[in-house]
Amino acid sequence: MFKIVLKITITILLITLTLPNVFAGDVKGIRFWQDPEKTRLVFDVSESVKYKLFTLDEPYRLVVDIEDAQLKMNIAKVEIPNQLVKEIRSSQQEQTLRIVIDLKKGVSTKDFTLKPFQDYGHRLVVDLRDKNAKKQIVKTAASAIKEKNRDIIIAIDAGHGGEDPGAIGRKKTREKNITLAVAKRLEKLINAEKGLKAFLTRTSDYYVGLEKRTQLARQNKADLFISLHADGFKDPKVRGASVWVLSSKGANSEMGKWLEKREKSSDLLGGVESLSNKDPLVAQVLLDLSMHYSVGASINAAERVRKELSKKMSKMHGKSLRKAAFIVLRMPDIPAMLVEMAFISNPQEEKRLKTKKQQMKIAKSILTGVKSYFKSHPPDGSFYASLAKSQVYKVKNGDTLSQIAQSFGVSMQQLKSHNKLKSNNLRIGQTLTIPGV
Ligand SMILES: [Zn+2]
Repeated sequence: MFKIVLKITITILLITLTLPNVFAGDVKGIRFWQDPEKTRLVFDVSESVKYKLFTLDEPYRLVVDIEDAQLKMNIAKVEIPNQLVKEIRSSQQEQTLRIVIDLKKGVSTKDFTLKPFQDYGHRLVVDLRDKNAKKQIVKTAASAIKEKNRDIIIAIDAGHGGEDPGAIGRKKTREKNITLAVAKRLEKLINAEKGLKAFLTRTSDYYVGLEKRTQLARQNKADLFISLHADGFKDPKVRGASVWVLSSKGANSEMGKWLEKREKSSDLLGGVESLSNKDPLVAQVLLDLSMHYSVGASINAAERVRKELSKKMSKMHGKSLRKAAFIVLRMPDIPAMLVEMAFISNPQEEKRLKTKKQQMKIAKSILTGVKSYFKSHPPDGSFYASLAKSQVYKVKNGDTLSQIAQSFGVSMQQLKSHNKLKSNNLRIGQTLTIPGV
């Protein structure tokens, strides 16, 4: 007995002696995500680690020292975004793992940790921003407001992104990639329409917090907000598209509750720098005041989009518009809807969602619904409002047919056939009726 105990003790001693560095933590993964404002650096760590970080100039670099940890991955394989980062390297200094990021410019940093959630373990997140970058002012959309006959601005929100993949299909299709693909197709279609202008809340693969998405819509003075999703459900048989609007009371269906829960996990997966410090009471009052206008408008717009989708899609989920308390739809004055394009958890729908044909079908249906809404509800000062008002135009000295056609966003051919004109000649004082768009 004594012999055995001694043997074990010696073995333990030997192990301890031959492995002088016993580390509490491992760094198992390093990822970069690039968004228009910042570069995000994420470390997968085996447990909540102690760390220090600092920046150095000449040459610019960021140093992250992780205490009592070692690197358990191939750092040469980390994909480097080219905006701010030149290179990433590591060294082990006794118990401290040092990661050095060589930078192109001086940066400011913000760091935070995330607790294990779903497939992720502990994560350490460092956001890097160009120190000298001027705050980007979104010109395209906001400046359009001042113009006469301005464009109507439509915010397209591609769900998920970056650390948050969204739902994952059986063939490993990620919701975040489908939402972005359709968002880009819809953006193109909208921007090809006179009087409409689209912008994306995210333009590539990075995460944007739910509240930040609504803030972006407000900053860009959006007239309508459309969030795109293709979620998963526990039952793979469930399929079909659905259109959702905000309900301050919360969902009353099982599907709605399931989707609300999934939405909440987005910020935990994606990583939000700091949650809003708004006074919850003030926020609630604002929300109640707003409901009046934006819920009615949201329902009207969403119903039109749903109708178009139901004409083109093989299957709709549910017989009517659905309601749930989605955070991303909580906006004081912007009508908003969330389109579940299909269920990525359904194998047939997963397959179809990846095709250009299906993506275009969805984007075109949304566009048609949106146009129909703004034709009947044109915002003040918009090109659509001018169309509604000026159905009749009186020809002035110097007018040409092509100028008139251009100013109303119709083709010369449309204008001619609509007014049964045989030539391009006009008389001063002649009245022309303008075809609707
Ligand atoms: Zn989703």
